[in-house]
Amino acid sequence: MKVLVINAGSSSLKYQLYDMVDESVLAAGRVERIGMDSSILVHEPHHTDEITEVSEILDHTIAIRKVLDKLTDSEVGVITSTSEIEAVGHRVVHGGESFKNSVLVDSEVKSEIRRLFELAPLHNPAHMMGIKAVEANMGNVPQAVVFDTAFHQTMPAKAYMYAIPKVLYKKHKIRRYGFHGTSHDYVSKRTAETLGRPLEDLKIITCHIGNGASLTAVQGGQSIDTSMGMTPLEGLMMGTRSGDLDPAVVPFTMMKEDLTVNEVNSMLNKHSGLLAISGMSSDMREITDGMEAGEPNATLAFEMYTYRVRKYIGAYAAAMDGVDAIVFTAGVGENSIVIRQHVCEQLTFLGVEIDPELNKIRSKEPRRISTPNSKVEVLVIPTNEELVIARDTYRLVKEAKNV
Ligand code: ADP
Repeated sequence: MKVLVINAGSSSLKYQLYDMVDESVLAAGRVERIGMDSSILVHEPHHTDEITEVSEILDHTIAIRKVLDKLTDSEVGVITSTSEIEAVGHRVVHGGESFKNSVLVDSEVKSEIRRLFELAPLHNPAHMMGIKAVEANMGNVPQAVVFDTAFHQTMPAKAYMYAIPKVLYKKHKIRRYGFHGTSHDYVSKRTAETLGRPLEDLKIITCHIGNGASLTAVQGGQSIDTSMGMTPLEGLMMGTRSGDLDPAVVPFTMMKEDLTVNEVNSMLNKHSGLLAISGMSSDMREITDGMEAGEPNATLAFEMYTYRVRKYIGAYAAAMDGVDAIVFTAGVGENSIVIRQHVCEQLTFLGVEIDPELNKIRSKEPRRISTPNSKVEVLVIPTNEELVIARDTYRLVKEAKNV
């Protein structure tokens, strides 16, 4: 079965076509600047060089049509007809409390995703455009949705409730949900496989640190706490997001700077984090280069970033009353030797000891970077959220066919 995985954003769309016989990626790509002038389509087939095409792509329906054209093209295509695509899987950021697992799309699921727009106004409407665009181009091909929040639905109330009037939870579902769930789920399972130990016996701290960043305490395969909250703003310091701060800072800043709700939201989500402190970039590579060049603001940004990651690791070791493995994943976690080194070198109280040579190895494979003496295993595991979406979609469609 061939499964198309789609991650639709408001002006972009990423795709991967999987052959589920061997879970190979036949083609991948992205469409950027949807609805703007000079939209870009980048198509990367497995058998030949990638191509980039600039044209006018007014909406997601046209974007999907262009993607299908590329997938079936006589030169850069990888299939002969779109009918070979037997299912489509979508990433959906917010599943609220309604979705504890991935599901096939039907009219009820669509209205529930719509009801959740207010919890994820930047993401869920874009995912819905992706679902509609597939319907417009591919009729009633089965579609599945895989939620970033679903893995964290196992969190106990003591971890997901905010200590604010309970009526706000009852009326508006204000609580912590957590995100990056497909990634935390995938890397925790890969950790158990890599260590050759049952997942049920393990206490794992997964550090998904990329542009967005979150840590999760995974006990016996279940998320028991995670650093992001009602939205992806809570927790760690990120590329452009503030992460944790005293909530009183918000009304105080609004008052002093005469900011609207939208302006303060934009400040915290787009103009904070590494970018605000370094004054130069949200990209960890540039922060690290700046620090090595002796730039004090880059150094402060770097130190704040690693300090927070370390504090959350300490907190989650306490939450689980121990930790067997700490795992690094996503753009920064998989690639930054210096970040892993700084985070781990002051975890001696947990008995963490990493091998500097193993830490330097670059690879796409899961690997251990701790010494044999380390009391906690430390691993680097490349994440693969698209594969989780493809697998869930494949499983759901097969189950539905067997009924
Ligand atoms: P997203 O959250 O957008 O999916 P990624 O997981 O792809 O992000 O991570 C992107 C980030 O990874 C970049 O902003 C960059 O800071 C970081 N990154 C990538 N390669 C390196 C590297 N070699 N060293 C440090 N940081 C890196």
